[in-house]
Amino acid sequence: MRELKVHNNLSRKKELFSPIEPGKVKFYSCGPTTYDFLHIGNARALVVGDLFHRVLRAFGYEVNFVRNYTDVDDKIIDRAKSLGRDPILHAALFVKECEKDMDSLGMMPATHTPKVSETIPEIIQMIQDILKNNRGYVVDGEVFFNVESFPDYGKLSKKDLHSLQHGIRVEVDSKKKHPSDFVLWKPAKPDEPSWDSPWGKGRPGWHIECSAMAKKFLGKTLDLHHGGVDLMFPHHENEIAQSEAANNCSFCNNWLHNEFLNFGTEKMSKSLGNVIKIRDFVDKYGGQVLRHILLSVHYRARLEWTDEVLNRALDEVTKIHEFVLDAKNILPQGDYSSEEISGCVEKMKDELSNDFNSAGAMGHFFTFMKNVRAHKDELSSSSVRDVREAITFVQDALGLISQNPEMVLSEIKRHMKDISSTGIDVDWIDALIMERKLAKEAKNWARADEIRKEMASKNIILKDNPDGTTSWSVQG
Ligand code: AMP
Ligand code: ZN
Repeated sequence: MRELKVHNNLSRKKELFSPIEPGKVKFYSCGPTTYDFLHIGNARALVVGDLFHRVLRAFGYEVNFVRNYTDVDDKIIDRAKSLGRDPILHAALFVKECEKDMDSLGMMPATHTPKVSETIPEIIQMIQDILKNNRGYVVDGEVFFNVESFPDYGKLSKKDLHSLQHGIRVEVDSKKKHPSDFVLWKPAKPDEPSWDSPWGKGRPGWHIECSAMAKKFLGKTLDLHHGGVDLMFPHHENEIAQSEAANNCSFCNNWLHNEFLNFGTEKMSKSLGNVIKIRDFVDKYGGQVLRHILLSVHYRARLEWTDEVLNRALDEVTKIHEFVLDAKNILPQGDYSSEEISGCVEKMKDELSNDFNSAGAMGHFFTFMKNVRAHKDELSSSSVRDVREAITFVQDALGLISQNPEMVLSEIKRHMKDISSTGIDVDWIDALIMERKLAKEAKNWARADEIRKEMASKNIILKDNPDGTTSWSVQG
């Protein structure tokens, strides 16, 4: 078992990771809400969870990995209603679509992938435990968590109730005792999915599902919990409050959060309208390229989506997979060995054991590839073994080498051909249109004009439509 250090957001420090039971890791990651196709920002959270899972396994840990699907939620209900569809059925269809996206990103299956709709008895039991311990209250069939009854509230996000009270506008007629109290169970409206409960027909609030699913599959105390940084407050703070209030013991020892994927200066998100769907990206370039981009920066650093990032990834993924194809035929033909070759796997492990530094690990792999290429006709037999070992390690611990390199290369080639045959780089146009939209929102009219002119100089004419979208055409 290899030791590793993780940046634990409970202490805001890098700490030695020591699971409760040596060699076994209880790991929970907050999964997607299944109302629509996922975007590449969601993909970052998924791929980072997969990185933790893979690295822990590669280091010899036995990992019980739970990643949930939120299949009962306001967004799902609204979307299903607008389509005249049953919400549970609508969510189930998108669970299937998520699974396809995850496969295309080369994700290793989680141990358990529970859904809210299949965890209702455990959710109700946990709410009952919270009420029994006097940490919640019921008003008209609605159950709330009482944050003032839980002195540790805010220990993850470092917020205190006093400042929170000032930050929140007091709702008129609120049933809540404190503005930060949150819903555990709510009465369902007609046509919404609902289940019988001691408080009447209803459905769970958002946060309780993760507490209940974590307990069901991992027990009362976890070793590792992960999600996007936006989930730290209130979602994860509320998970801690619920679990500790119900179970009377610590919920999780290590909290890790991935940073955002940004487009320009803003988070990529549906509400800002600046999303690229995983499905669309993968259709164009293949999932290996997206995975490569997402792991090319440390999970705690922001990732800015630019053309340059995409082009670099296309280049690097091509280099890696061409190397892998060549390596299939490498034979020992001399006695060359070097530290770059024999030490590569160990150096990659060192980087990954330092808070999962995937970017650092790949840096060593690039140095290694260069060295192997330069000496490919004079490698010793131990160097040839090292080459195979390094490729297998990148495949297993990072998933950055596909089992089918020919396919990865042909997808990238097809994309390059598309661009050169039309002479038009659609991605470049899309990216500039998006940047112009953001510039206009920021009232940066100078940049917006500059973009229009830059495109006109390449015969691309923009037209702003009344619905707020922008279309383009090529001037003849
Ligand atoms: P949601 O479906 O919005 O609940 O998000 C599912 C997961 O994706 C959560 O862990 C979010 O933190 C994460 N997420 C959403 N947008 C982004 C983004 N732009 N960058 C990184 N993670 C994101
Ligand atoms: Zn969660």
